[in-house]
Order: sequence, then structure tokens, then C-alpha cells
Amino acid sequence: MSRFCLPRDIYHGKGCLEELKNLKGKKAMLVVGGGSMKRQGFLDKAVNYLKEAGMEVEVFEGVEPDPSVETVMKGAEAMRAFEPDWIVSMGGGSPIDAAKAMWAFYEYPDTSFDDLCTPFNFPELRTKAKFAAIPSTSGTATEVTAFSVITNYQTGVKYPLADFNITPDVAIVDPDLVSGLPVKQVAYTGMDALTHAIEAYVSTLHGPFTDPLALQAIEMVLDYLPASYDCNMEAREQMHYAQCLAGMAFSNALLGIVHSMAHKTGAAFSTGHIPHGCANAIYLPYVIAYNAKEPEAASRYAEIARRMGLEGTSQKALINSLREKINEFNAKLNIPKTIKDFGVNEAEFKEKVAHIAELAVGDACTGSNPRSIDPAAMEKLLNCTYYGTEVDF
Ligand code: FE
Repeated sequence: MSRFCLPRDIYHGKGCLEELKNLKGKKAMLVVGGGSMKRQGFLDKAVNYLKEAGMEVEVFEGVEPDPSVETVMKGAEAMRAFEPDWIVSMGGGSPIDAAKAMWAFYEYPDTSFDDLCTPFNFPELRTKAKFAAIPSTSGTATEVTAFSVITNYQTGVKYPLADFNITPDVAIVDPDLVSGLPVKQVAYTGMDALTHAIEAYVSTLHGPFTDPLALQAIEMVLDYLPASYDCNMEAREQMHYAQCLAGMAFSNALLGIVHSMAHKTGAAFSTGHIPHGCANAIYLPYVIAYNAKEPEAASRYAEIARRMGLEGTSQKALINSLREKINEFNAKLNIPKTIKDFGVNEAEFKEKVAHIAELAVGDACTGSNPRSIDPAAMEKLLNCTYYGTEVDF
């Protein structure tokens, strides 16, 4: 048995933020991040729409990037005091992820992060509130997914929460909110979306419900990401929808080892954080080469290339074209070819790579990767992504 779960309503189109007017409820808690929504006037707009819906509104501001356990607990406490029947989260991935966890602790104050960490083991939500999500970046697609990541800064542990209970009820995908996105973020989040779609398409859990969404997302990213990067607003609008489609696919088909590697290398080096989408973009062509040694995955990568009209008559040539296309995109988007070029120090890389390989193999995304991997092979693969060498194993 498989389950396919999406928000009940996904509003999309310029100005659809206005749909907040039509939510039915008494009290809304609006959860936002560091201030970009406020500066651009979207916070005020959202508050006013919710008031027009006849709701009393309270705002929880200041959710940090990579939201902490403390922020989640503070938010849940504020919710218990205010008792909203709608939780509305607006912003990049972080405020939406944080609000999802706040929601669980609002409804179940006695639960713990360790309880929630077991995948697909959440208590039944929606006993107190429903959840609406409004993304202001075009990549994570947390507005339609069953995932949230919360960081415990005391122990350095990231809690990846996964359960269809936290798939939002309503997603509002309004491209006006991404019109001011810095181009670096357009590049990184766009490549994150492409990685979501490609990993979902070859995942061991892919199926007839997720495949069309993944393919459509890949096609749209290939068509629109370069122009979106060049600040063409029509292309940026299409990218906002493409990342959402990719999210619908991967929320149900899950991901693969590109994400395992990005998760475990993101904060591993003293030379600085490797942004999630940038890490994915670097690793993707190498992982395709590794996974393509598995025949089923190879035929699916070739199928992507064929559907996208890329060149090649043999399976091998088609897979090469797909990898070349990704390299071409990375070059256009100013994303380096290796993590060495990103600036990771060689001595530090060598010292840490074995441990990182072990952690990456243990990541939640490894299980649905189409080809299995052990720590020794992962270490070799990471070495390829450092030195830019061919994956021939
Ligand atoms: Fe991602």
C-alpha cells in the first residue's frame, strides 16, 4: 500500500495571497521569519486579509534560519496562550518548518522531539488548528511537503521530522512573494528544486502518482531557471510553480543520496556553510554517474533526458547529456564544479571525509536511493566531488 498526500487546496497565481480572506476560523497565529516579509509589505497584507476573514490575528516573528528547538517551544507556548484555530506560516523554508513543529507541540504539549523523530509516527493533528503555508522562496516546497527540519544547537543534532500529519491544509503559492529574491538564492533554490524532482523520479518509492509531477517540474526548471536567474519575472513565476510540483513529487516519493551528502556536508567544514541547494547542485551530476551503474536507475535517467529532448540515441549518451545539462546550468548560475572550488580546505576535507561518509550513508534520504551505498563507496564518491574526478565504480 502506498499513500499519496497533498494539501487540500493549493492556490497559485499572482496576488493569490488574497485567498487568506477566505479562510474560515476565529483566530490565526501568523508565523514569520527575520523581517523580509515585513519590509516588503507582505506581512501587513497577510494580517489585513486574515482580519478581513473575520479573524483575530497574532504574529509570531523572528524565526531564525535553521530554526531551533527553543524557537519551536516558544512558538508552541504562544499558541497555547492564544489558542488559534489557524496557523499561517509565511517565508522561506525556516518559518514554515518551525511552525509545523510548533503545531505538533501546541496540540500535544507532552510530546518530545525524540517521539516525533520516528518517521511517520506523529499523533493525529488538526484537533485544535489547521495549517496554511505561504512560501517566499522557490525551492524547499515545504508548503506542500510532509517534512520539517529543526536544529538542537546544544547537541548539534538536526531533527528531520517526517509525517503526512504536517503536510499543510492550504498552500498559497503567490509569485509576487519571490519577485525580490536575490539571484544567488534563485540559483541555489532552483537547483534544489531540480534535485528534488530528479531524485524523486529515480527514487525506489517513485510511482504513477509522483512521476508526472517530477517530470513536469524538471521540464519547467530547464525551461525557466536561467531566465529567472536573469530576473525575468515571468520565468520566476514559473519557477515558483515548478518547485511546488517537485515538492509534491518528493514529499511522496522521497529523495536520494544527493540530499544525504548535502545534509551531512552543509555544516561540516570550518571554511563556511555550503548552502543546501548549492551542495545539491554540485553533487547531482556525480550521483547520477554513480546511480546509473544500476540498470533501473540508468533507464530512468535516460528517460528524463529523452523526455526533455536532450541529445543521444544510446542510454549512455542520454545520461551523459543529462549530466552535461546540469553542468551547463551550474556554470550559468555561478555554482562551482567541486567542493574544492567552493573553498573547502583539502587537509580538513581529508581529515573529515571518512566520518562524513558514514553519516551520509545513515541519512534518512539514503534508504530510497536507487543504488545502495556503503561508507567506503560514499567516501570515494565524496572524493570525486572534491577533486572533480570521474565516478567509475
Ligand atoms: Fe532539498
